[in-house]
Amino acid sequence: MKMVPDKYLKKVILSSDVFAVCIQHALTTEKQEIMGLLIGEVDEEACVSQVTACVILHRSDKQPDRVEISPEQLCRASMHAEQLAVTLKKPMRVVGWYHSHPHITVWPSHVDIRTQSTYQMMDPLFVGLIFSVYHTDQRIRSNQIQLTCFQAHQRNSELERREVQLIIENSPLQGYNLEGIANLPKILVQEEVESHSVKDNETIDPVARLHNDAFKTVALVHIVSKVSRPMCDDLVERLNVTNWRIKELEALKKELLDS
Ligand SMILES: [Zn+2]
Repeated sequence: MKMVPDKYLKKVILSSDVFAVCIQHALTTEKQEIMGLLIGEVDEEACVSQVTACVILHRSDKQPDRVEISPEQLCRASMHAEQLAVTLKKPMRVVGWYHSHPHITVWPSHVDIRTQSTYQMMDPLFVGLIFSVYHTDQRIRSNQIQLTCFQAHQRNSELERREVQLIIENSPLQGYNLEGIANLPKILVQEEVESHSVKDNETIDPVARLHNDAFKTVALVHIVSKVSRPMCDDLVERLNVTNWRIKELEALKKELLDS
């Protein structure tokens, strides 16, 4: 029987802009699980992982409760990490994965723990994040967003979840993460177009085609109104706050120079 290596992460430091990208991604759908890969640096000795970027993955199979990362996707994410490593002059690599649990609790399922354990066989410090969204707590009757950070742990022959300490660190919005947010609607549009496209061997009558096109239009309008527009509003708001802060700092600088 294969064993999970006996080396575990002690702490994960997640930058706040990556946290924002993941939440934004998780909130795009309450019907399926979304997923992506985490990029950053790992301190092998201290067993601490620092997550500073992420890659949003495109789903080809929209089955509920089925999140799988294909080798091609992993390869593309590694290439992205290598590019970032060159730009930032830091040893960036794929350090973990994230996925969402819409309408269910944040805890990893048996499938999640098994998947996580296979990643740990390749990289003992690989980590998993789960974002629970659209889950209502009956006692407080409000919508909650929860996050867990975990690894798989082998006790005797049983695989179990091992919680990892998670710290969200405040960070300015980096250009490459902004690009990640901006690419989100594009990825969603691509998924919709693919899922509605007619396969070559499929014969389709005009009414069915009309029906299909109408559904595609509704889905695309949904992306614009529920994802792109709020995202633009949010970014404009962030810009206003930043401009206001610049003004404030300039006034302070002038005051200090004059005194
Ligand atoms: Zn899961």
